[in-house]
Amino acid sequence: MSDTIFSKIIRGEIPSHKVYEDDHVIAILDIAPLSKGHTLVIPKEPATTLHELGDDQAAAVGRVLPRIARAIMKVTGASAYNVLQNNGEAAGQAVMHVHFHIIPCVPGSDTGEGLDKEWNPTSPSQDELLEVGKQIKRLL
Ligand code: 5GP
Repeated sequence: MSDTIFSKIIRGEIPSHKVYEDDHVIAILDIAPLSKGHTLVIPKEPATTLHELGDDQAAAVGRVLPRIARAIMKVTGASAYNVLQNNGEAAGQAVMHVHFHIIPCVPGSDTGEGLDKEWNPTSPSQDELLEVGKQIKRLL
Protein backbone atom coordinates (compact mmCIF):
# COMPACT_ATOMS: atom_id res chain seq x y z
CA MET A 1 0.00 0.00 0.00
CA SER A 2 1.12 3.60 -0.49
CA ASP A 3 2.28 5.82 2.34
CA THR A 4 -0.57 7.50 4.21
CA ILE A 5 -0.91 10.23 6.79
CA PHE A 6 -1.17 7.51 9.47
CA SER A 7 2.17 5.92 8.43
CA LYS A 8 3.75 9.35 8.85
CA ILE A 9 2.10 9.76 12.26
CA ILE A 10 3.30 6.26 13.30
CA ARG A 11 6.85 7.20 12.26
CA GLY A 12 6.57 10.46 14.21
CA GLU A 13 7.00 12.61 11.09
CA ILE A 14 3.68 14.37 11.65
CA PRO A 15 2.41 15.50 15.06
CA SER A 16 -0.64 13.92 16.68
CA HIS A 17 -2.31 13.75 20.06
CA LYS A 18 -1.15 10.23 20.89
CA VAL A 19 -3.00 8.63 23.80
CA TYR A 20 -1.56 5.09 23.58
CA GLU A 21 1.34 3.22 21.97
CA ASP A 22 2.79 -0.29 22.14
CA ASP A 23 4.89 -2.38 19.72
CA HIS A 24 1.95 -3.01 17.37
CA VAL A 25 -0.62 -0.27 17.90
CA ILE A 26 -0.99 3.46 18.36
CA ALA A 27 -4.10 5.42 19.33
CA ILE A 28 -4.50 9.10 18.54
CA LEU A 29 -7.26 11.67 18.85
CA ASP A 30 -9.13 12.21 15.57
CA ILE A 31 -8.27 15.63 14.13
CA ALA A 32 -11.94 16.24 13.23
CA PRO A 33 -13.83 14.44 16.00
CA LEU A 34 -17.54 13.58 15.84
CA SER A 35 -17.57 14.07 19.61
CA LYS A 36 -15.10 14.89 22.36
CA GLY A 37 -12.65 12.00 22.85
CA HIS A 38 -13.15 10.49 19.35
CA THR A 39 -10.07 8.31 19.03
CA LEU A 40 -8.45 6.32 16.23
CA VAL A 41 -6.83 2.99 17.11
CA ILE A 42 -4.31 2.14 14.40
CA PRO A 43 -2.23 -1.03 13.92
CA LYS A 44 1.32 -0.18 12.91
CA GLU A 45 1.27 -2.79 10.13
CA PRO A 46 0.68 -0.87 6.90
CA ALA A 47 -2.42 -2.79 5.81
CA THR A 48 -5.12 -0.90 3.93
CA THR A 49 -8.16 -2.81 5.17
CA LEU A 50 -9.16 -5.13 7.99
CA HIS A 51 -9.13 -8.29 5.88
CA GLU A 52 -5.52 -7.59 4.87
CA LEU A 53 -4.33 -7.29 8.48
CA GLY A 54 -2.22 -10.09 9.95
CA ASP A 55 -3.66 -12.21 12.77
CA ASP A 56 -1.13 -11.01 15.36
CA GLN A 57 -1.70 -7.35 14.55
CA ALA A 58 -5.45 -7.88 14.64
CA ALA A 59 -5.12 -9.57 18.01
CA ALA A 60 -2.99 -6.69 19.28
CA VAL A 61 -5.70 -4.21 18.30
CA GLY A 62 -8.43 -6.36 19.86
CA ARG A 63 -6.48 -6.57 23.09
CA VAL A 64 -6.31 -2.80 23.59
CA LEU A 65 -9.68 -1.63 22.21
CA PRO A 66 -11.62 -2.29 25.44
CA ARG A 67 -8.94 -0.60 27.59
CA ILE A 68 -8.90 2.49 25.40
CA ALA A 69 -12.72 2.58 25.33
CA ARG A 70 -12.81 2.45 29.15
CA ALA A 71 -10.41 5.40 29.40
CA ILE A 72 -12.41 7.44 26.86
CA MET A 73 -15.68 6.77 28.69
CA LYS A 74 -14.17 7.73 32.02
CA VAL A 75 -12.69 10.98 30.71
CA THR A 76 -15.71 12.07 28.64
CA GLY A 77 -18.41 10.78 30.97
CA ALA A 78 -20.07 9.13 27.97
CA SER A 79 -22.05 6.01 28.83
CA ALA A 80 -22.34 4.89 25.21
CA TYR A 81 -20.03 4.80 22.21
CA ASN A 82 -19.66 3.34 18.72
CA VAL A 83 -16.70 1.46 17.29
CA LEU A 84 -16.57 2.16 13.58
CA GLN A 85 -14.26 0.59 11.04
CA ASN A 86 -14.50 1.59 7.37
CA ASN A 87 -12.97 -0.57 4.63
CA GLY A 88 -12.80 0.81 1.10
CA GLU A 89 -13.86 4.12 -0.38
CA ALA A 90 -17.47 3.01 -0.92
CA ALA A 91 -17.68 2.24 2.80
CA GLY A 92 -16.44 5.72 3.70
CA GLN A 93 -12.74 4.99 4.22
CA ALA A 94 -10.76 8.18 3.63
CA VAL A 95 -7.34 7.19 5.00
CA MET A 96 -6.13 3.98 3.37
CA HIS A 97 -4.46 2.53 6.46
CA VAL A 98 -6.67 0.26 8.56
CA HIS A 99 -8.00 1.92 11.72
CA PHE A 100 -10.79 1.69 14.28
CA HIS A 101 -12.78 4.71 15.42
CA ILE A 102 -13.98 4.85 19.03
CA ILE A 103 -16.70 7.52 19.06
CA PRO A 104 -18.39 8.57 22.30
CA CYS A 105 -22.15 9.00 21.93
CA VAL A 106 -23.23 12.16 23.74
CA PRO A 107 -26.79 13.23 22.81
CA GLY A 108 -27.29 17.00 22.98
CA SER A 109 -23.59 17.83 23.42
CA ASP A 110 -22.34 21.04 21.82
CA THR A 111 -18.92 19.41 21.30
CA GLY A 112 -20.45 16.76 19.00
CA GLU A 113 -23.07 14.09 19.59
CA GLY A 114 -21.14 11.22 18.01
CA LEU A 115 -21.86 8.98 15.05
CA ASP A 116 -24.91 9.74 12.90
CA LYS A 117 -26.55 6.32 12.95
CA GLU A 118 -28.56 5.80 9.80
CA TRP A 119 -29.41 2.11 9.49
CA ASN A 120 -31.43 0.79 6.56
CA PRO A 121 -32.30 -2.85 7.19
CA THR A 122 -33.50 -5.19 4.43
CA SER A 123 -35.69 -8.31 4.72
CA PRO A 124 -34.02 -11.37 3.17
CA SER A 125 -35.87 -14.70 3.17
CA GLN A 126 -34.70 -17.58 5.35
CA ASP A 127 -33.45 -19.31 2.17
CA GLU A 128 -31.36 -16.29 1.22
CA LEU A 129 -29.85 -16.13 4.72
CA LEU A 130 -29.17 -19.88 4.62
CA GLU A 131 -27.44 -19.68 1.25
CA VAL A 132 -25.11 -16.74 1.98
CA GLY A 133 -24.38 -18.16 5.43
CA LYS A 134 -23.38 -21.50 3.87
CA GLN A 135 -21.09 -19.78 1.35
CA ILE A 136 -19.28 -17.75 4.02
CA LYS A 137 -19.00 -20.72 6.39
CA ARG A 138 -17.39 -22.81 3.68
CA LEU A 139 -14.48 -20.34 3.48
CA LEU A 140 -13.82 -20.20 7.23
P1 5GP B 1 -12.01 7.00 7.70
O1 5GP B 1 -13.09 7.74 6.96
O2 5GP B 1 -10.84 6.68 6.81
O3 5GP B 1 -12.53 5.83 8.46
O4 5GP B 1 -11.53 8.04 8.80
C1 5GP B 1 -10.35 8.75 8.74
C2 5GP B 1 -10.32 9.66 9.96
O5 5GP B 1 -9.00 10.17 10.07
C3 5GP B 1 -11.26 10.86 9.89
O6 5GP B 1 -12.15 10.83 10.99
C4 5GP B 1 -10.32 12.06 9.94
O7 5GP B 1 -10.82 13.13 10.68
C5 5GP B 1 -9.07 11.48 10.55
N1 5GP B 1 -7.83 12.12 10.10
C6 5GP B 1 -7.49 12.44 8.82
N2 5GP B 1 -6.28 13.02 8.78
C7 5GP B 1 -5.85 13.05 10.08
C8 5GP B 1 -4.64 13.55 10.69
O8 5GP B 1 -3.74 14.06 10.04
N3 5GP B 1 -4.55 13.42 12.03
C9 5GP B 1 -5.54 12.85 12.79
N4 5GP B 1 -5.33 12.77 14.11
N5 5GP B 1 -6.68 12.39 12.24
C10 5GP B 1 -6.83 12.49 10.90
